Amino acid sequence: MSDPRAIPFGRPSITEEDRAAVAAVLDTPILTHGPQCRAFEEEFAAFLGPGAHCVTVSSCMAALHLACLRVGFGPGDDVLVPAQTHAATAHAVEWVGARPVFADCDPCTGNVTADTLARALTPRTRGIVLVHFVGIPCEMGDIVGFAHRRGLPVVEDCALAVGSRWRGTHVGLLGDAGCFSFYPVKHMTTGEGGMFVSRDAETASAVARLRAFGVERSGSAASIPGAYDVPSLGLNYRMGEMQAALGRSQLLRVPAMLEARRARFERLCAALQGLPGVRVLDSASPDCASSHYCLSLVLGRALARSRDDIVRSLNAHGIGTSVYYPHPVPRLDYYRNRYALDPEAYREAARLSDASIALPVAPHVSLEGIDRIADAVSEAVKEVQV
Ligand SMILES: *Cc1c(COP(=O)(O)O)cnc(C)c1O
Repeated sequence: MSDPRAIPFGRPSITEEDRAAVAAVLDTPILTHGPQCRAFEEEFAAFLGPGAHCVTVSSCMAALHLACLRVGFGPGDDVLVPAQTHAATAHAVEWVGARPVFADCDPCTGNVTADTLARALTPRTRGIVLVHFVGIPCEMGDIVGFAHRRGLPVVEDCALAVGSRWRGTHVGLLGDAGCFSFYPVKHMTTGEGGMFVSRDAETASAVARLRAFGVERSGSAASIPGAYDVPSLGLNYRMGEMQAALGRSQLLRVPAMLEARRARFERLCAALQGLPGVRVLDSASPDCASSHYCLSLVLGRALARSRDDIVRSLNAHGIGTSVYYPHPVPRLDYYRNRYALDPEAYREAARLSDASIALPVAPHVSLEGIDRIADAVSEAVKEVQV
């Protein structure tokens, strides 16, 4: 983008400290799976709060795959998955041979609820993989209650939810496993990378083995360099030391970054309040503290037809936008061809894909930039109304 006033939707934040942390790794002989990864796991666990056990992995997709393997989903199992999420949430279920059964979302938050999950239940339902949509926490009290009554494990996709809390507990620690993403435009980045999280130490150590070929270095083997055994099947989903060093450096800025996102979200929300025909995705519950990944603007029926014109107008004003997510998962070619679901079953999820615009509220946008976004949205909405 050549316009110096242009506001991209997302831009990774990289500082001198980040660069130095990555460069320092290259002066050591350990480039992967070493002390940086272990320190990152400990520091991320401390950030999440008491009881967290963390395992660095190569992506959130990897963490989701490992979570589905660990909780034991497999062929013949149905797993409830949000219709409105990243394809990765459903892919993880497919990769272990289970069948994703899509649950619709609450139109106010974009999240599945105990109600929408109950409507999607089948006789073969064996678990739930949910997402905290654009960082808005799911109503986890209701959902965990629903899951426990039926003995269903809950995997949380927390890719957009670094900093999201339900009743003060960080998401990822409410279900059986949590999966985080450090992709460049998420809350913090390692380039590519992710974190598997569990309150159960045994689960964390099993997943740690699974993500590294199934290698076991304990007992007599631990004292002999290079010696190990492989008691189980495994994958290579490890994180590199340079990524971990970047993650540790980024994590130091997360509290300030979350505060900046909150301030920008609230300022943009207030500025858009009076605009007729639009609403903002958010939780009304005091239990739910969002990580404010973006501000998802939902257009009413009349305006929704002009969504793409509004997007083009915003882009022409130098304002980057995105769509979370451009299709509900059951409408993506792979899933449509495989399951041919009735669109009525994911009506609200489809409405978000077709009628919403994601606006940036990350720290790379100045407060003055937020005001320009608000003005440009008002103008674009007026343009299409005449
Ligand atoms: C980005 C994203 C993912 C994928 O994360 P990767 O780290 O790129 O694998 C998964 N789930 C959700 C909800 C996402 O937004």
